Amino acid sequence: LNATGFRNEPLRDFARQSDRERMAQAVASVRKMFGRRYGAQVAYRELPATETLPSLNPAAPDEVVGEVGMASLRDTEEALQAASQAQQSWATTPVEERARLVLAVAEAMRRRRDELAAWMVWEVGKTWREADGDVCEAIDFCEYYAREAMELERPERLGRLPGELNELMYVPRGVSAVIAPWNFPLAILTGMTMAAAVTGNAVIMKPAEQSSVIAAQLMNLCNEVGFPPGVIGFLPGRGEVVGEALVTDARVHTVAFTGSMEVGLQIVEKAAKMAPGQAHVKHVVCEMGGKNAIIVDADADLDEAVTGVVHSAFGFQGQKCSACSRVIVHQSCYEAFKERLVEAVKSVLLGPPAEPGTKIGPVVDAQAKASIERYIALGRDEGRVLVQREVPESQGYYVGPTVIEGITPEHRLAQEEIFGPVLALMKAESFDQALAMANSTRFALTGGVYSRSPSNIARARREFAVGNLYINRGITGALVYRNPFGGFKLSGAGTKAGGPDYLLHFMNPRVVVENT
Ligand code: GLU
Repeated sequence: LNATGFRNEPLRDFARQSDRERMAQAVASVRKMFGRRYGAQVAYRELPATETLPSLNPAAPDEVVGEVGMASLRDTEEALQAASQAQQSWATTPVEERARLVLAVAEAMRRRRDELAAWMVWEVGKTWREADGDVCEAIDFCEYYAREAMELERPERLGRLPGELNELMYVPRGVSAVIAPWNFPLAILTGMTMAAAVTGNAVIMKPAEQSSVIAAQLMNLCNEVGFPPGVIGFLPGRGEVVGEALVTDARVHTVAFTGSMEVGLQIVEKAAKMAPGQAHVKHVVCEMGGKNAIIVDADADLDEAVTGVVHSAFGFQGQKCSACSRVIVHQSCYEAFKERLVEAVKSVLLGPPAEPGTKIGPVVDAQAKASIERYIALGRDEGRVLVQREVPESQGYYVGPTVIEGITPEHRLAQEEIFGPVLALMKAESFDQALAMANSTRFALTGGVYSRSPSNIARARREFAVGNLYINRGITGALVYRNPFGGFKLSGAGTKAGGPDYLLHFMNPRVVVENT
């Protein structure tokens, strides 16, 4: 097994009747499992909770997808003890065995892929296609990291001096805490967790409150394949309680986080403080927000650009850190682009994600809806609303896709991550100015350029400061191995999920020199 043999898991094709029927069945059968209880798990024991919170269906918030037992500080302590106990023997377990378990998780996911996707449809409001993509990405992370870990484990000989054997090798860092987001509730949780586990670290998962039921499915898969007790712990609960306790604990060596900039920076700060008894520097892997732009150049293919922008801005309701939230259009094609964009936004199908044809569903919860609506209100002051779609008659947390023009770099709509279906339309006088505008935020995650000009494309390659630049295509949906994902500036500390150096964040490098 090696990374070059890796292939991305193929997506379902819902135009095919068999794929469609399987998914429809899964959506219906998962619904019958609503209302079950999920709680913290440590070493194959479910911990009783004193407090439970319902996880709701965002398309119909009177429906309880599952009841989630909130992990307490005492549960966190148990998980940390179990992980610390398991650490030593897990670290010395041969990498083949660790990889075998991670690959078994992938296999178990394949067998239940429609069911896992259906949980995401119900718990976070993903459309079928988005949910299916999420499962495929989770499988990819397992397959890719398992292969990478095996390659890393072989010591590399440095230099070729006779009489001297220099070997570089990587060893597990120690217990890892994974603090995961709700927007890729299976893929990102799986990616961070399996990266830590396959490299020999016991892991404690702290899922986002909004997606604890999906996270519990992953925990169950881990139990099914038989990780040794204590290697994978599960602590659903509040960030301020569980997350905080994990980040500040002396036994944690690595914190892997994906989420907002605010929380990410707090984690970096807290993890930098030495806890009593701590004898290592904590390492934080953090993947944070974006304020991603697509530039539409004067000679761009507008049909392609409109499709790519709409998909990037409104896919999963704009709740991706990779999402396009600014489109910067060259003045010479501005009017033509604007007209087509508005028409396209008016025609996307909005509705319950459980319906197969839906392209845009609800946002994740009431708080998200309120915050996005505040930004739309602000957009009315800062610019001019070109389109704001009506939402379906429903209690669901729907926010109509919105496009706001007249936004310039000093506006908050051009600077703050909204994390919803709101797109700022900006006009540039030249490609130069477009690039300068694109680079005028604190973030540097994804970016895109639609252009037919080789020299402008070459400039963008050099000067568009983002971790993932996409030319003449949409800017979401990075694939494991082919598009390692992650940004810099305040989008993250330069890590690349699904790329060749990701696993190194969970390991310490060692060099052994032998005089032979
Ligand atoms: N990797 C995802 C993409 O390329 C985004 C991940 C995120 O939103 O955190 O669309």
